[in-house]
Amino acid sequence: MCTTASFGLPLSMRALEYSEARKFSVVEKALPEVREQDILIKVNASGVCGTDLHIHDGEFGAQFPLVPGHETVGVVAAFGKGVHGFEVGDRVVADNSELCGHCYYCRRGKELFCENFIAHGVMVDGGFAEYARYPAYRVFKFKNLSDVNATLLEPAACAAHGLDRIAPQMGSSVLLFGAGPTGLILAQLLRQNGGCRTVIAAPAGLKMELAKSLDAADEYVELPRETKPAAARMEKLLTDNPYGFDIVVEATGSAKMLENAINFVTKGGKLVVYGVYGDDDRVSLPPNVIFKEEISVIGSFSQTYKFPAAIDYLDGGRIKIDGIVNKTFRLEEWQACLEAMKNKSVVKAAIVFS
Ligand SMILES: [Zn+2]
Ligand SMILES: [Zn+2]
Repeated sequence: MCTTASFGLPLSMRALEYSEARKFSVVEKALPEVREQDILIKVNASGVCGTDLHIHDGEFGAQFPLVPGHETVGVVAAFGKGVHGFEVGDRVVADNSELCGHCYYCRRGKELFCENFIAHGVMVDGGFAEYARYPAYRVFKFKNLSDVNATLLEPAACAAHGLDRIAPQMGSSVLLFGAGPTGLILAQLLRQNGGCRTVIAAPAGLKMELAKSLDAADEYVELPRETKPAAARMEKLLTDNPYGFDIVVEATGSAKMLENAINFVTKGGKLVVYGVYGDDDRVSLPPNVIFKEEISVIGSFSQTYKFPAAIDYLDGGRIKIDGIVNKTFRLEEWQACLEAMKNKSVVKAAIVFS
């Protein structure tokens, strides 16, 4: 039911809709109905990430027809009768996941694994539209960030969850492979929460320059793009750090890199599996090293309940993010955005509406 404060809303909106995998167009469609516990967001910016490339190909559990977009930022345009604590015009970001609250995992406080999990922008319509609907309990206010920078709150919430998973001890040395958006946020979180020496190792280029401009680490190891010189540089990193690092984060999504990463973990240290890998990828790890050296192998995926922390860190300026979103596109430019993502000419992109 469209209820409170819906006055002045248009009847229809523009949205980027997929009818099936790889088939998309900008369509005019009705505004989502606002139910009792819903907030209707007028979208100002919607982050684009690697997941959207998978959705384009029909992977990641995408359910068509679909309006993608799972990093939605805007202002409250309307809300249902049962919603409290929000006003029309509040600047907000939406958590894209809805949890059922009654499945096996939800009942045990492990909502991340909810069996009836609904992901906006993957299974139901998301933020690549002028308006998007979310349940109020998944909508959060923020103050200072620009709309475009606020699209990083969702990846930052995932990084904050990663920090919980790693639970770094004070004085930890940290090595992070990869300099992608969530990696750069995680590196800063680690550095401010127990990490006393943080090293980022990644190919020289745009992302590495960005890492430096954000002051994301204490040291930067630039890996050459060619295989042999890169292997030599990795070898040098190992000889320079004979005792390894307390925390080694593999954030590139390369299975080969993950196999190598364990060599950099100190005895009693933690190996963090933080990339998105292919479903068919396999790694070979030495069980006797994990056993004798008591290495913890830790997975970290997605998040629940970390938006408030992400907002505190980013909106308050503790974590630096300027420049991570380095290109914006209009809905009509989706094809160009896809191409820019595929050829890696953008670090991170966002769809904007005004
Ligand atoms: Zn994403
Ligand atoms: Zn559940």
